[in-house]
Amino acid sequence: MNASHTALENVLCAATTIIDRTPALTEFAAVPTDLDFVQRAPVSKPAVDCLVSGLPAASPATQPLVDAVVSTAPYAEWRTTYTAEQVGVDFVNRYGYFELYGPSGHYTSQQSRAFIGYWGDHLHYPRHQHEAEEVYYIIAGEAYFDTGNEPTRCCSVEDMQFHYANQSHSMTTKNSAVLCLALWRGAGFETSAHLSPY
Ligand code: ZN
Repeated sequence: MNASHTALENVLCAATTIIDRTPALTEFAAVPTDLDFVQRAPVSKPAVDCLVSGLPAASPATQPLVDAVVSTAPYAEWRTTYTAEQVGVDFVNRYGYFELYGPSGHYTSQQSRAFIGYWGDHLHYPRHQHEAEEVYYIIAGEAYFDTGNEPTRCCSVEDMQFHYANQSHSMTTKNSAVLCLALWRGAGFETSAHLSPY
């Protein structure tokens, strides 16, 4: 097992521990049984520098996953779905995610999908949507979620935020950055999020 595989194995192991002991996550999407490691070339993004230079508070339960993500940052295939034209230069420079498992993840799976996502402080992720159902689980810091249907919710470490299929939602960070584990399941789980048309 090379350094990259070892690092990602540590992230998978720490994420599995959290999913396995959090009933709402297990019920939403248990860790897939068809995982297959794929050696992917690392892709860095500007946000990786922010992430490794310091993350907000975690909890005893989430710290192992935070530590594993920081150690894995140089090996992960980081992505930014959006362009600076869509969401602004600052947003693109201080946000990023990688697909831990899923159809195009570091581990392939056709059962469900897991992402690790980071947003710096004082960012606004505009209303967007995706066909897959989603749950966010905060592993460090906090963020404010807005679906338009309910009052804005502040989610901090170990809190969860659910979105149903095609539900438009936005996310805002204030004084704290946020690091999340996001799970996707159901129809269209292999497709990407896109900005809502309104
Ligand atoms: Zn979403």
